[in-house]
Order: sequence, then C-alpha cells, then structure tokens
Amino acid sequence: MSLIVQKYGGTSVGNPERITNVAKRLLETQRAGHSVVAVVSAMSGVTDSLIKLAREVSAKPTEREMDVLLSTGEQTTMALTAMAIQSMGGKAVSLTGAQAGIVTNGVHTKAKISNITPDQIRKHLDQGEIVIVAGFQGETSEGDITTLGRGGSDLTAIALASAVEADACQIFTDVDGVYTCDPRIVPTAKKIAEISYDEMLEMASSGSKVMQSRSVEFAKKFGVTFEVRSSFNNNPGTTVKEESAGMEQVVVRGVSVERNQAKVTVTNVPDKPGCAARLFTALADAHVMVDVIVQNVSASGSTDISFTMNRDELEKIGDLLDRVAAEIGAGKVSKQDGIAKLSVVGIGMRTHSGVAAKLFDALAKGGINIQMISTSEIKIAVIIEEAKIAEAAKLAHTAFGLDAA
Ligand code: ADP
Ligand code: ASP
Ligand code: MG
Repeated sequence: MSLIVQKYGGTSVGNPERITNVAKRLLETQRAGHSVVAVVSAMSGVTDSLIKLAREVSAKPTEREMDVLLSTGEQTTMALTAMAIQSMGGKAVSLTGAQAGIVTNGVHTKAKISNITPDQIRKHLDQGEIVIVAGFQGETSEGDITTLGRGGSDLTAIALASAVEADACQIFTDVDGVYTCDPRIVPTAKKIAEISYDEMLEMASSGSKVMQSRSVEFAKKFGVTFEVRSSFNNNPGTTVKEESAGMEQVVVRGVSVERNQAKVTVTNVPDKPGCAARLFTALADAHVMVDVIVQNVSASGSTDISFTMNRDELEKIGDLLDRVAAEIGAGKVSKQDGIAKLSVVGIGMRTHSGVAAKLFDALAKGGINIQMISTSEIKIAVIIEEAKIAEAAKLAHTAFGLDAA
C-alpha cells in the first residue's frame, strides 16, 4: 500500500460544494488502496479577510497574534473536510500543524520548519483514517503558534511528504499544472509536463506564485518530487523534479511576471568604498527586501545607484534614504512606482547564447523600454513600465516559441 500526500489550495476548498468535492477525491484515493494525508489551505479569501480584520483593530498588530489569527483559516477548512468525509461514511481526523508534529523556529509570520515528528499522523493512518492537516502552520518548541509565509500550505505538504516518506506528493490547485506563463496573463500559455527544481524555483521567486518558492527550495533540498495538478479534473499535471537529461534542450521553460514593484534611485553617490554598504545596511535594518540593483559607471567621482523593491514596502522607507544620502554626501533620492519585472527562465540558457538579445529584440519591436536588467545563470529579468507588462509577457512568450499551437 502506498502513502500519498495531497494538498488542496484555497480555491479548491473555497465553498462547501468544493470541500465536498475534495472529500470525495480523498475517499476515492483511499479506496484505490492508498494511505492518504491531506493538507488543506484556508478557504479562498479567508487569510486576506483575517489580515484586514486585524488592521481594523490595530495599526500594527504583533506578529505573534497575527499567527494565532491566521492559523484559524486553515483550522476551519481541516475540520470541515474531516466532517464532509465522515458524512460520506469515511474515516477521517483533522490535525493542527502542532498536532501533526510540525516544529518551527520562532520567526512569526515566516517561520522555518526545524523538524517534524509525524507520530500522530502515523497512528491515525494505521487506524485507517484519512488524516487532514492544517497547512501553513506549526508550533515553536515553546508551544507558540507560527505560520510559514503566504502560500505556506505548499511547504507543509512538501515537508510532510518528506517526513512521512510519502510515495507521492500532489499539489491540487485551480489550474491544470505549471504553465509557460500565468494563463491569466498569457492565454496561449501551455502546460509544462516536467520542470526542474531550479526552474520552478526561479519562476516561483520571480512572480509565478503557483508554488510558494520556499516550498520548492525545500523540495530541492530533500529531493521531494511533486506534481502540480487541478482539483477540478483528472488531467495529468506538471512534475517538478531533479534535472534530467534533455531538459537543457529547452532554452526558455517559462515567463514570469511580478507586478507591484517600485524603483528607487540615489543620485551622485560618492564613488568610494562603504557608500553602497551604508545605503543597503540601512535598508536591511529596516527589513526592506531589495531586488534588482544597478550602479552606473562612475564618470566624475560619483555614481547613481538604483534598486527595485516591493511597492507596498515604500512606506517603510519614509525619509530613511534621504538621511543616509545626506550623511554620505550623495544627491537626491527619487522613488517611482508603477513598474514591474518580467523574467524568462530556463536551464537551457546555460548552454545556449543569444537569449538576452532575443528578449530585448522582442520588447523593442513592441516599443517597450527596458529600465533595468538583471541576470542569473538560468534567468534574464527586465524592469519595465507596469502598464506594459502583460503585452511584454505575450511578446516574450511568442519570441521563445512557447505559445500553444
Ligand atoms: P492555491 O490556492 O491552490 O495555492 P494559487 O492561487 O496559490 O493556488 O496558485 C494558482 C494560481 O497561480 C493560478 O490560478 C494562476 O493564476 C497562478 N499562476 C501564476 N503563474 C502561473 C504559472 N506559470 N502556471 C500556472 N499558474 C500560474
Ligand atoms: N492561507 C495561506 C495564504 O493564503 C496559506 C496558503 O493558502 O497556502 O497565504
Ligand atoms: Mg498557493
């Protein structure tokens, strides 16, 4: 008998009918002869509503209490799913993250899993029960509830699959798999049959939020092969796994889009050691996540430094950079929102040349101006005007031959 971990995301459990559908699927899987562990997300929109609710009672809720609050979303779903299975005559039990043995560090709202002791899960499986685990949550060794960052139920599923040594890990969502681009942006996007961990990781961390990037990192580290597929049909999905022979033949596997970015430029930064360090240390101390950084060639003893970040964090910066700029003798600080990042990703880039040229040419033909460029071994990313991002994604998608026939 094999052991399967299945994760159902927010849309898949978004209303009572959908929860009933998930319950049916879980029972079918069990009846086919498998032991089943299900990881469930909060019903769609619930986590966002809880965050909104918190803001209505407090301008700055503590992260500990945010975790206590947000963990309730998944707890609602797990109990409803277990009830639905029981009402169909099946055996099921729901477990919180803590009951499932998921221990994390104490970094509230983005905790890291430190270990998993799945004794309770095993005990219930041995009793023939379908075990429903609340995604996205764990507990510190001191007994405080923690959450694993947005989209964290993916991580719960992959980490549990590793801990219980599951034979298969399936991530059920509202699309048929991982596509060459978000099908909501590029309707001609195609489902990818197989993708390497590295490509999935680059896509997830550059805006393709079909998988939480931390969960892919975990899967890569512990060698958990998983499949992304739809909870609304039985179509085969996308297998995410170790790189295999032949995968490098595809130059660009997919295109990612990240909206909601902002660009900050500090002009006339003195061209001497320590200035960039001062600027970015101040940002790090303020817990601002910086993405693409570009420094101009120094012409007359000073240079301009630009970087991008999430637009929602602009507020956090306030006049911080103006103060640091004054201290180091730099010029003006300008902030611009309404920009976005487009990335093309593929391990084939390691062995093929001309990828950047092709991307830039496609954008040029569409009259799209590139503001910044950044590359990694398997990714080329450009910063452009946000209003043009969908058009840019379509152009890149076509240029790299990714459109469905
Ligand atoms: P869940 O609630 O099941 O975790 P998510 O909303 O987190 O689902 O992820 C699924 C969504 O991810 C899809 O509806 C799709 O719009 C979006 N998405 C972004 N990029 C991609 C991609 N490359 N392939 C498939 N879906 C993508
Ligand atoms: N409910 C959490 C979120 O919306 C976790 C998840 O769905 O994976 O981010
Ligand atoms: Mg998700």
